[in-house]
Amino acid sequence: MRRCALTVLTVLVAWASWTFVAHGAGPGIERLYVLDCGQNTGKDQSRWSPGVNEGKPIDFSDNCYLIRHAKGLLLWDTGVPDAVAAMPDGMVVANGAIIYRRPKTLIGQLAEIGVKPADITYVAISHTHGDHVGNVGLFPTSTILIQGAEYDWAMAQPTKPAFAATQKIEKLSGDFDVFGDGSVVILFTPGHTPGHASLLVTLPKTGALVLSGDAVHFKDNWDHKRVPSMNVNRDQTLASLQRIATVLDEKKAQLWINHDKPQSAGLRYAPAYYE
Ligand SMILES: [Zn+2]
Repeated sequence: MRRCALTVLTVLVAWASWTFVAHGAGPGIERLYVLDCGQNTGKDQSRWSPGVNEGKPIDFSDNCYLIRHAKGLLLWDTGVPDAVAAMPDGMVVANGAIIYRRPKTLIGQLAEIGVKPADITYVAISHTHGDHVGNVGLFPTSTILIQGAEYDWAMAQPTKPAFAATQKIEKLSGDFDVFGDGSVVILFTPGHTPGHASLLVTLPKTGALVLSGDAVHFKDNWDHKRVPSMNVNRDQTLASLQRIATVLDEKKAQLWINHDKPQSAGLRYAPAYYE
């Protein structure tokens, strides 16, 4: 009888570890929310897709993602500034090349799911362009996870990200397993900016996802491996796209392209979530 119980236990342990390996989800990850962090318009698509739709405008989605893990909450990117929500005509940036719009504030969407800024353990940043770090200062007690190469580059620019003075800035150098169980891994994908990063998230039911950051802007650019004109290092970008393709293959992961509006239209936004 005892031996039988032991066998059952062995089988259960083997099954559990197989499941763990099969999905790659760490034991602590619980859910992921998609938040609307901007509805932006680019005046000329060819700025992002050289030779394509020259002079024609393109609409961008701009998402933030909140991940709930047993060891804390992680916010991936912060979108365009919440102040834009109060501007009926939006905010014109990049010498007229881009208009930011924000139907809802980030803080309001977090409140809707019962999250206060002080609840957020980590704010992780794909890169320091204004449509990603617009609200970084609204989380004064969170630890900022950013590549050291990105931080150093951004702080040398005329317009710097508005970090809060109290924020602990953790400068990363390469990939980083945030919670130590492989469920949320920052991938170093430089090129668009010197310290650009993407995020590999492995959820218990949904499986693995790569959140692109701006390694690529649209599905069509991904299919054609296009590099935008506004980009720091072309070779690094192409190498990062290849790296993401390898990760997608190895992890059987989906690629969620942050600025691809048609793809984002198919996602469930908060208060709905992915498990
Ligand atoms: Zn962007």
